Amino acid sequence: MDIVIGLEVHIQLQTNTKLFCGCSTNYRDSKPNKHTCPICLGLPGSLPKLNQKALEYGIKAGLALDCNIADSMQFHRKNYFYPDLPKGFQISQYDSPLATEGTVELSNGKKIEIRRIHLEEDPGRLEHPAGKKQSYVDYNRSGVPLLEIVTEPDMSSPQEARDFLRKIREIMEYLKIFDGGLEGSLRCDANISIEGGGRAEVKNISSYKGAEKALNYEITRQKNLMRRGKEVKRETRHFNEEQGITKPSREKEEEHDYRYFPEPDLPRVTISKEKIKEIEESLPELPDEKRDRFQKEYGLSQDQAESLTTSLFLADFYEEIACQIDPELTATWVADTLKGELSYRGINLKESNIEKEDLLFILRYLKEDEITEKGAIKVMRSTLDENKKPEKIIEEENLRSISLDEISEIAKRVIKENPEAIEDYRQGKEKAVNYLVGQVMKETNGRADPGETNKLIQKQLEEID
Ligand SMILES: [Zn+2]
Repeated sequence: MDIVIGLEVHIQLQTNTKLFCGCSTNYRDSKPNKHTCPICLGLPGSLPKLNQKALEYGIKAGLALDCNIADSMQFHRKNYFYPDLPKGFQISQYDSPLATEGTVELSNGKKIEIRRIHLEEDPGRLEHPAGKKQSYVDYNRSGVPLLEIVTEPDMSSPQEARDFLRKIREIMEYLKIFDGGLEGSLRCDANISIEGGGRAEVKNISSYKGAEKALNYEITRQKNLMRRGKEVKRETRHFNEEQGITKPSREKEEEHDYRYFPEPDLPRVTISKEKIKEIEESLPELPDEKRDRFQKEYGLSQDQAESLTTSLFLADFYEEIACQIDPELTATWVADTLKGELSYRGINLKESNIEKEDLLFILRYLKEDEITEKGAIKVMRSTLDENKKPEKIIEEENLRSISLDEISEIAKRVIKENPEAIEDYRQGKEKAVNYLVGQVMKETNGRADPGETNKLIQKQLEEID
């Protein structure tokens, strides 16, 4: 059975001020209703004025997604009543959007068509405190610029939808117009249907993991209905992220219910060819380009390059170290070791204590055999957990590698102290060597290189023969 999925993604643009007024968009730590003015409260007589930065960001996004940017665009009023919308309508775009016909390539190589991209204002927020009969409304978010990205129904699995959202997040973060780390900065609605059934529109998805969950739930629900010979109705459903389920929602608006009409308070916006060209020339290197360059320039595998370019912060972190020391060694330590340690701790690189200089220091020591690989991991862990500098950790925990001569001395002593192991070795028991290596590691507190120690011990045992 074919599965058909289309997405409508809303991302908040990181402008300093709102889409049509001068209020700050930095509302997350503010008291309710502190970032408001007559315009974003929709008071009579107030007039909206388009934020040029938001327009520029929208054009950037459109170009990065390979869209055609319109020569001119129009804002429309989308009319509906809800307490989070003080004007009784949302200023959005309808038949004259900012950009159309783009594409995004998923990591499996499949191309997803973008139908359109438009600008609109974010509504306010309702709060329903537990145990209280009344709800509260906060208009701090009202008027924050949103970019809506609408895809064609080109995705055929929840994994593809998740991958699409991840790609969008990466691209928008590379453009520095979006911060996916902020709560509620990316939200999406998903249309999903299974061959032969009606289409469900799932609203209230707020993360790419949530999207995958919601879609998986929908597939199971729709398949179960079909299996029992029941009709899958065309309907709008609401996703509850905590419970991981979707429920029918009471919203029944059809497009004609919104009575879209051109916003009379905002003139048509013309976008000149020069402006588009200027923005196009200022576009930074995007994730896919960076990934390809990392492979070519630093000789990385596709997996490593992919892993290192998932965020601009991580990619810059990698590249600044790689330029100063072995790029392949750095790739292994960042993409595998460091990312593994971070994910174990449930944090990302930005939130962690480790700085570029710290990892560079660790890798220099490792390359010069001043510490062992095991020691390097230990230093990395302590840097992450205790926020101490690697140099200090190496001193305090006595992690500096010891020389081959020293290991040789210790090995001699260990062999002498374990005559039964020599006997075992003579009888061809390889395990005896491992035992002796283990003893040396113990004596040296793990600072000896296990490979070298193994060689030394074999050699010394043969000499006894
Ligand atoms: Zn305002």
